[in-house]
Amino acid sequence: MRFFIWPVIIGTVTILLMLFLHSRMVLNVVDMGMISPDRSAFSIGQYLYTLLVDLSVHYERLVKDSSSGHGVILLSMIVFVVFFVYSLLLLSRNTALLYRERARSKTMLASISDGLFVTDNKGVVEFINPAAERLLECDNSSVVGRPIEDVFRLISTGTHAPVENGVRRCLRDGEPYSLRRGDTSVITCSEKYLDVEHEAAPIIGHKERMTGAVMVFKDVTHRRRIAQELEWAAAHDPLTGLVNRREFGNRIVEALVTAQLDKKSHTLLCMDLDKFKIVNDQGGHAAGDALLRQVVEEIQKVLRSGDVFARLGGDEFAVLLAYCPMKKAIHLSHNILNAVKAMEFSWEGRVFKIGVSIGVVEVNKSSKSDSYALSLADKACYAAKEDGRNCVRAITPEGVMLRSGRKPKAETVKAKMANSWC
Ligand code: GH3
Ligand code: MG
Repeated sequence: MRFFIWPVIIGTVTILLMLFLHSRMVLNVVDMGMISPDRSAFSIGQYLYTLLVDLSVHYERLVKDSSSGHGVILLSMIVFVVFFVYSLLLLSRNTALLYRERARSKTMLASISDGLFVTDNKGVVEFINPAAERLLECDNSSVVGRPIEDVFRLISTGTHAPVENGVRRCLRDGEPYSLRRGDTSVITCSEKYLDVEHEAAPIIGHKERMTGAVMVFKDVTHRRRIAQELEWAAAHDPLTGLVNRREFGNRIVEALVTAQLDKKSHTLLCMDLDKFKIVNDQGGHAAGDALLRQVVEEIQKVLRSGDVFARLGGDEFAVLLAYCPMKKAIHLSHNILNAVKAMEFSWEGRVFKIGVSIGVVEVNKSSKSDSYALSLADKACYAAKEDGRNCVRAITPEGVMLRSGRKPKAETVKAKMANSWC
C-alpha cells in the first residue's frame, strides 16, 4: 500500500503545480485582453480533464506491470519528470505568448498620435506613451511613479482654476469619463499651456476588480484657434474689426430683453458717412479703406467702453449706447459728428474731409424688434441726409421724428461754411 502513496503524492503535487502555473498564465493573458474570461475557464477545465485522463491511464498500466516497490517509485518518478517537463513547456509557451502580447500592446500604444497614460488603481502613473512625452515635453522616467495630477495638470483655460482629472473621476466612479469641453488646458513640463480634450476609462482585471485607469488626451490648440477665428469672422467686419450687422442685431435683441426686464432704455445710432465716394473715386479703393479705418478710430475715442460699435456695410455704421438716455445720446452723437468733421485724411499728398449723418432712436420696452429699431434709426439717418448731411436727427420708437434731434442752428451754419459740399 505504501508503494502507492509516493506516486499519488508526487502526481497530486505535480498536477497542482501545473494547474497553478497554467491558471496564472491564463489569467495574465486574460488581463491583457488577449482571450476572453470564458475561454480561459474552458482552457483550465480542458487542461485538468486531459491531465486526469493521462495520469489515470499511464499510472494504472505502470503499477500493474511493475513487480517491485522500486519499480513503482521509479515509474512515479518518471511520471513526475514527464509532468514537470510538460509543465515547463507549457510555462515557456505561455511566457512567450505573454511577451508577444506585451510587445504588441507596447507597439500599438507607441504608434498612436494621441497622448496616453496608464495608472494603477491609486492614480499613480505606470506608463506614458511617446506622444504624451512629446506633447507634455517630459520623459518617461520623470513621470512614471508620480500621481497623475502632478504630471497632467489640468486647468480651466479662461480662469486657470484647477480642473479635476478624468483618471481620478473614473477611479472614483468606476466608469469611463470624457471631458470634451472647449475650455480645458494642461500645463506642460516646460510650463506652457496646451488646449486639450481627454478621456479616461477604468481597467477591469481579474474578478472584475479595477486595477487602474487608462487616459487618452488630444492636443486641440490648433483646432480651437481655428474655431475661434471662424467664430470671430462670423461676427465681425474684417476691415475695421467692428461687429458686423448680424452680430449687431443680436446685441440689439439683448438690449431689448434688458429694456423689458429692467424697464430701462438704451439708444441706437445709425450713421452714414457723407460724400465718402469722392475719396474712393479720387484716391482709389485702398484710400477709401484707410479712411474707413481712421474714421472708426476717431469715433471709438468718443464712445464709452460698454458701447457696441458696428459696421453695417459700406460707409454705414451703428452704435448701441447701453443704458443711455436720449438727451445724452444726442450729445454723444454731436461729439461723433464733430470728431469726424475735424478729421483730416491724407492720401498721396491729398487731404480729404468728410462728414457724417446720424439717426438716433431710443430702444425701450415699447420697441417692437431689433430690425424695426434699426430701420427707425436708418430712417432718422436718411432724414439727416435730407436735411443737408453732417447733422443728427432723432426719432421715437413709434416712428415720430423729434425736433430735439436737430442740430443747433449756429452749428449748421458753421458746418456749411467748413464743408463746401454740404
Ligand atoms: P452720401 O453722402 O449720400 O452718403 O454718399 P456717399 O458718397 O457717402 O456714398 P454712399 O454712402 O451712397 O455709398 C457708399 C460707398 O462706399 C459705395 C461703395 O462704393 C463704397 N464702399 C462700400 N464698401 C466699401 C469698402 O469696403 N471699401 C471702400 N473703400 N469703399 C466701399
Ligand atoms: Mg455715405
